[in-house]
Amino acid sequence: MREKGLSEDTLFSFLLSKKKEDIDHAHILSSMCTIPHPVAVRAHLQFMETNLGDPGLFPGTTSLERLLVERLGALFSLPSACGYATSGGTESNIQALRMARQLAGVERPNVVIPESAHFSFQKACDILCLEMRTVALDSGFRMDPQSARELIDRNTCCMVGIAGTTEYGVVDPISELSGIAKDLGVFFHVDAAFGGMVLPFLKHSPVFDFSLPGVSSLAVDPHKMGMSTIPAGVLLVRERESLCSLSVDTPYLTVKQEFTLSGTRPGASAVGALAVLEFLGMEGMRDIVAGCMKNTYRLIDGMETYGISRAVIPDVNVATFGPARIPPPWKVSWTRRGHLRLVCMPHVHAGVVESFLKDIGEHNA
Ligand code: PLP
Repeated sequence: MREKGLSEDTLFSFLLSKKKEDIDHAHILSSMCTIPHPVAVRAHLQFMETNLGDPGLFPGTTSLERLLVERLGALFSLPSACGYATSGGTESNIQALRMARQLAGVERPNVVIPESAHFSFQKACDILCLEMRTVALDSGFRMDPQSARELIDRNTCCMVGIAGTTEYGVVDPISELSGIAKDLGVFFHVDAAFGGMVLPFLKHSPVFDFSLPGVSSLAVDPHKMGMSTIPAGVLLVRERESLCSLSVDTPYLTVKQEFTLSGTRPGASAVGALAVLEFLGMEGMRDIVAGCMKNTYRLIDGMETYGISRAVIPDVNVATFGPARIPPPWKVSWTRRGHLRLVCMPHVHAGVVESFLKDIGEHNA
């Protein structure tokens, strides 16, 4: 560390020069995050110093976290849902599996997870010493319910379904999986980290939420399609007891117990997430999601006119394709199966899509 500090001018021009090395969002087609909505930024700045990890010191901020949980619970058909603001899908998924393991209380627990699951489940299984049983996908890259049923045994503490897969943007057959979970009495976690902020705003979308009686918990990330500041995830549970199974004593805080994974937790981004929901309402979210879906379909059509075929018709705003040459400066990604993957986030507006298609046309003629 420096003996004598820098002047503010020098410091900030150094920081700005580094920020300029980052990729301009106008060329990012690979990310599930986006430029935060201005109201999220404003709320974030207003709540910078708040710590949800010590709720007695921040009762106002804590009540806003409760309101965020209530709003999302209602959006997912369970206004009485319990939950809390996490750092994102990874933490929510780890905590869901931790709850399921705790509740099952079996000696050698396993979890049944689709092949398409986000790599956060690998981390969760590693940390929690869970055997990960992978379910094959069907031709549309969705989890096969029959194979899932066959992999479940008495040591299965959790089954996972994905509502909006990271790579192909499809929704697993959550309704059928919920039926299996109910039949076999297995905890069922739905990872809607991405799709949770898309599917409720579409005219026609598969059912994936707490309206299905087998769904035990659900992860949703406002810092993805919810346009919140980072980090903002939310874990929701049907039964409060599930969360309580994770409680530890916190003797020196203003509360005596906590069930969260992190201790210190930012109020700023949780309030940012709530601010977007309150500001846009259903109407505003429907408009944004409709725009993203329109751009996704335009991208698919445009690519197909160049002979670059789609891999699947997605349920959310993720488009995947066969091989293509991608010129700089575009930032795209590739799935484990080798498909080109593009995510039409709100910053990927119609002009960006057209300019990308023009470049693709020139490089793939
Ligand atoms: N689950 C899904 C479906 C995701 O797409 C992602 C990230 O893209 C995650 C979980 C992990 O979220 P995070 O990176 O916010 O921890």
